[in-house]
Amino acid sequence: MLNLVIYGPPGSGKGTHSKLLAKRYNLFHISFGDFLRTEKEKKSSLGILIEPYLNAGKLVPDRIVFNCLRKILDIKTSKQGFIFDGFPRTLEQAKGLTKIMEEKGDSLKLTIDLSVNKTCYLQRIEARSPDNQREDDKIKETVEQRINSYIANSKGIIRYYKRLNKYKRIFAHQTKEITHQQICQRVDSFFK
Ligand code: AMP
Repeated sequence: MLNLVIYGPPGSGKGTHSKLLAKRYNLFHISFGDFLRTEKEKKSSLGILIEPYLNAGKLVPDRIVFNCLRKILDIKTSKQGFIFDGFPRTLEQAKGLTKIMEEKGDSLKLTIDLSVNKTCYLQRIEARSPDNQREDDKIKETVEQRINSYIANSKGIIRYYKRLNKYKRIFAHQTKEITHQQICQRVDSFFK
């Protein structure tokens, strides 16, 4: 199965590019943030448990996250694989993803890292139109918290995937179309 991770800081375009890749390669798109936000809005028991973390822009504890991941990966799908958007966020999650996929007789094939500098991704977060803006984009401290957690965790995650030889960095400052093409070239060449 063509299982991909799309990685990058908040505002790097993970959501946009995951959707495009899901369509092009017939993948099941898992936006972890969307999944958690839906639970929060539904006020399910999981939603009530995770609400404080989402409101503060803090990472939901791994114990809860792994339960969600197992449930998601149990979904029966006729797609060609999964695209993980917003997962992993920590080295432990990256290792957990490898392990849980192995348990299911599958494996992660490639991590695409959308590389954009801080000025660029801050501008992109600010530029999201008010209608389009998420609750957690409106509060400066929450945005900062999400960025800090990215900075604290990214080196370890990148090193881990490089070591596994499952890492491709894409410089994603260009237009959506150009970046999409660059990603597809990398994905296609990986499988040649
Ligand atoms: P996102 O939409 O990916 O920016 O995620 C929004 C919020 O959901 C984050 O600020 C975290 O509170 C939570 N979240 C999303 N993905 C994860 C994850 N993999 N691990 C822990 N918390 C997460």
